[in-house]
Amino acid sequence: MPLTAFVNTFAGNPLNRASERRIDAAWLTEKLEAPDSLGVALWNGKPLVENGKDGKPQISYLKADMAGELAGGPERLLFLGLWQDTAVFAVDLEGGADPMDGPLEGLGRFEDLRAISMDLPSTEAAIAATAKSMFEWRRRHRHCASCGEISEVADGGWKRICPSCKAEHFPRTDPVVIMLPVHGEKCLLGRQAAWPKGMFSALAGFLEPGESIEEACARELNEEAGLRATQVRYHSTQPWPYPSSLMIGLIAEVENEDAAPDQTELDEVRWFTRPEARELIKGSLPGARAPGAMAIAHQLIRAWSEEA
Ligand SMILES: [Zn+2]
Repeated sequence: MPLTAFVNTFAGNPLNRASERRIDAAWLTEKLEAPDSLGVALWNGKPLVENGKDGKPQISYLKADMAGELAGGPERLLFLGLWQDTAVFAVDLEGGADPMDGPLEGLGRFEDLRAISMDLPSTEAAIAATAKSMFEWRRRHRHCASCGEISEVADGGWKRICPSCKAEHFPRTDPVVIMLPVHGEKCLLGRQAAWPKGMFSALAGFLEPGESIEEACARELNEEAGLRATQVRYHSTQPWPYPSSLMIGLIAEVENEDAAPDQTELDEVRWFTRPEARELIKGSLPGARAPGAMAIAHQLIRAWSEEA
């Protein structure tokens, strides 16, 4: 498929990650101090935004040296990459006190990334998602997984090195299969008891070690709904910064219709005809609704519903 055939929300980060440059500490310092370099601030995973001319939120970029000062050292600082020749950094302002009451006063506001993801420019949603996932990884993996020592940040935030056993640790991405099971002219969606009334979505589960993507898809469909998959095809993927998953979107043909929810993950399953799926995506099917367009589940249902 062409590289830009389908770009989900949180994908499409336009920055050049410049991984060959971020290993150079002197170059990073020079870029951090350069007057045209930029900084993106996150507070507990929320990006600092301001309103653009169209009234919609956009990232409120800081000067990079200010981001560096707020970070107070390499631990909370991340080199995100280059926009043409401009270096872009991110600073992690975790903690209880709202930074808007301090040094950032007047420079914008912190907003929940998921809530504003469809209003942000898609490229900026992707930049913020990258920073959020990286900071979540840093926060959860500060200790060396081999010996327990507190590790040290390297490569502009993209690596941690243990000072004791010298082990190197790299950011994690956890793969999740998310699939739409189809049988003839019907697709099946499930719902969890805790979801809002009438909400149905695609089925999903974490890929386990030793499994291929197609095997994980078949296993999850069988475990959660008693379905037997016969064919699996790939649609697209979505980086999902909660905290650092990759949603692998699939459409799976199944041979049986006698689906049954496992009552653990899923409370209810329901078949939808293709015309019903089209109405569901438009938000006009009485009694049922689907996740919004920022979710890959929405895009899977839409893609299949528009195939015929
Ligand atoms: Zn160690």
